[in-house]
Amino acid sequence: MADVSQCRVGICGLGTVASATYNLLTRHAALIQSRSGTEVTVVHVGCRRDHPDCVLSNVRVSRDIFEVVRDPEVDVVLELIGGTDPALDLVREALGNGKHVVTANKALIAEFGGELFDLANANNVSIRYEAAVAGGIPIIKAIREGLAGNEISRVAGIINGTTNFILTEMEGMGNRGFEEVLAEAQSLGYAEADPTFDVEGIDAAHKLTILSTIAFGVPLEFEAMYTEGISQITVADIRFADELGYKIKHLGITAKDTQGVELRVHPTLVPKTSLIAQVGGVMNAVMVTSDAAGETMYYGAGAGGDATGSSVISDVVDLARDHVGIPGPGYLADAVNAVQIRPLEQIESPFYLRLTARDKPGVMASLTSILSSHNISIESLLQRDAKADEVPVVMITNRVKESAMNAALLEITSQSNVAGEITRIRVL
Ligand code: NAP
Repeated sequence: MADVSQCRVGICGLGTVASATYNLLTRHAALIQSRSGTEVTVVHVGCRRDHPDCVLSNVRVSRDIFEVVRDPEVDVVLELIGGTDPALDLVREALGNGKHVVTANKALIAEFGGELFDLANANNVSIRYEAAVAGGIPIIKAIREGLAGNEISRVAGIINGTTNFILTEMEGMGNRGFEEVLAEAQSLGYAEADPTFDVEGIDAAHKLTILSTIAFGVPLEFEAMYTEGISQITVADIRFADELGYKIKHLGITAKDTQGVELRVHPTLVPKTSLIAQVGGVMNAVMVTSDAAGETMYYGAGAGGDATGSSVISDVVDLARDHVGIPGPGYLADAVNAVQIRPLEQIESPFYLRLTARDKPGVMASLTSILSSHNISIESLLQRDAKADEVPVVMITNRVKESAMNAALLEITSQSNVAGEITRIRVL
């Protein structure tokens, strides 16, 4: 980027995020110039077809996206195609050609970020990915810059709008189950035709991998993540949780202490009165616990072209500022330290348990005795009237290790006075 009078941008892909980003760059050109200290111009767009909401003018258009990363006129490449194939090769080539890269692609960063950061450093360029986590919420900048003076102990968030929409709708008065609400989410465009990535927690796991690296300076550890989705959550669990004073949210949680780092994505009971419990519909929110600032929460749209484009452009502005010699904080490969990822069995939390007991004398006594033999106590209990000799029993336990809970549940399952599966949901 020798010419500092402008920062020349190439865009790969022209879908929802790319077209919104192009339109924002055009609409806010003067604002962006005043904030970055240089003119930011889109010079090349690589797309297989036009986008109906985007009128490209004074821009070279190539149908082969690789033309963009090979264009000597391009200083910054925006990778906005998604997935890892061919995005990985595209980004490798862009970095190798000495171009900065901005991406919204969480899968690419979570799974291949380590390699790409090294490649960026080796080529003296940057790769930035604010838009990859929580769409329009500038959470990466908030952690990396706003909380730079803090030791962070935990980051917990609702980082997938689809699962939050489904759980919020299931909470409603209609008693609609997971499958019914999922179908509605699909018809509204909030869920993909194949919803697996969202509802089974993989999308949230990608985002949490990135957040953990930013918060704790540890390598990207996507493979080490414990991931559980929401497809097993029932309306009954949502109602029981409500009676006990909780909502069920799908959370990504990463925490660090002297024993290592926790990395987990799963349904979680959160107190109804907590701020994060108020986050409904497709919205996202991330709570950060740190020693000086205390608990802070960042709320906003986790998806959508404009919101995500806003984050893409914040990275472009940073790079443009670098370009004219106003440096912002960058990624430092040597600031990343290997760390022990704590196995789930060692992690402690209170648990919500729901089981069906046969209505015989002494059932509760034997349940309590098994739990207490594993040092588990019952903090709250709901017991309903017996139906056909079976009684639903719902409880919240004290904070215990996952391994103790596993052992207790194994023992309880083998009891003749317990029928069917036992539901367990961790409590925040
Ligand atoms: P999208 O609407 O599906 O657009 C993808 C674009 O990439 C399309 O122009 C598509 O071209 C092009 N493309 C895909 N594969 C290609 C290939 N092999 N060769 C050439 N072009 C290819 O996707 P999006 O929603 O904008 O998402 C883009 C990125 O932003 C993804 O990484 C996504 O995870 C991330 N993101 C999206 C949102 C959101 O709200 N949408 C939020 C946060 C992050 P065709 O139209 O020809 O297929």
